[in-house]
Amino acid sequence: MKKKRLMAPGPTPVPPKALLNMAAPIIHHRGPEFKGIIGELREGLKYLFQTTNDVLIFSSTGTGAMDGAVANTLSRGDRALVVNGGKFGERWMDICEAYGVEVEIVDVPWGEAVDPDVIRKVLDTDNSIKVVLTQACETSTGVVHPIKEVAKIVRDRDDTLIIVDAISALGALDIRTDEWGLDVVVAGSQKALMLPPGLAFASVSNKAWGFVERSNLSKYYFNFDKERKSISKNQTAYTSAVSLLVGLRESLKEIKEEGLDNIFARHDKMAEATRAAVTALGLQLYAPKSPSSAVTAILAPEGIDGSDVVKVMREKHGITIAGGQAQAKGKIFRIAHLGHVDQFDIITAIFALEMTLDELGYTIDMGKGIRAAVKVFQG
Ligand SMILES: *Cc1c(COP(=O)(O)O)cnc(C)c1O
Repeated sequence: MKKKRLMAPGPTPVPPKALLNMAAPIIHHRGPEFKGIIGELREGLKYLFQTTNDVLIFSSTGTGAMDGAVANTLSRGDRALVVNGGKFGERWMDICEAYGVEVEIVDVPWGEAVDPDVIRKVLDTDNSIKVVLTQACETSTGVVHPIKEVAKIVRDRDDTLIIVDAISALGALDIRTDEWGLDVVVAGSQKALMLPPGLAFASVSNKAWGFVERSNLSKYYFNFDKERKSISKNQTAYTSAVSLLVGLRESLKEIKEEGLDNIFARHDKMAEATRAAVTALGLQLYAPKSPSSAVTAILAPEGIDGSDVVKVMREKHGITIAGGQAQAKGKIFRIAHLGHVDQFDIITAIFALEMTLDELGYTIDMGKGIRAAVKVFQG
């Protein structure tokens, strides 16, 4: 027998109770029972996003809300600053290109975080930039960007918004939407929200609503204004993803029960343990200076292809982790500790990694990684 375990940065494992609830018979999305559920979700999402504003809900993957964030806040001729430090930074560029929005790119070497001062300099010299587009956690490199510091630069500029792709961060890392002045925060269901793929979310600040009112880019399904009116009546504009939202009710309940601070501390601990383990095994981190607590990116050792690590982990040990993308392909592998994951999952993954490395011919002191992880968890 071989158990299958998901330890990739999305999709992530779904808690059993959420799975059971999602198997219940479908209820009608315009009936009173479902409106009651959306009413509950509105409160739970505000807690999760650390905002007093309503969070919009879309039936799509996270990218849908990224698309919507650009299409709803910008107008023809507006320019955008894109923080490009990985695959998802590139996605912001691609979305802008699709809408004819010209971009100023702040290139960040893969594995590093953006320097807020660079953003300040660009904004100081170019007032045609209406929005800063960034990731909170650049999942492809395992980096966490200094969002609070970047937001500080943007928040006092009336003509510029900060839009954060927090798809792999929200619910794992402390993202203080209102306190930091984040104008649009985008999330997806299949990461720290512990649900199947298929839901996207966007919080929108009062400042951003002003941009939405003026925005003249084309949009249809991802229409923020329309969804704002619907959610105020405990509905979504089109047929709600009923089952997923019933699952969301359960996962938000579990998030509230554990408490955001405990959740962030758990993720920090799991990340620290993972880093300690792989370092003890003689491996190097891909993002040593600004590692994310959602996912750890690890350089494959000399002579071993990172894709083979992923393959052996999955095929021999039933554990799905992620490889590297684009320029990091074959060079790294990524272990996620995101969502419904605890210390025992980490120990299991480290044990499997030790066996995998051994099987691939990398000499290790078997158990050394596990001991390092245990020490972190017990400390
Ligand atoms: C997973 C992820 C996405 C992509 O989301 P989809 O749900 O696949 O559309 C975007 N940005 C980041 C940072 C992610 O981790």
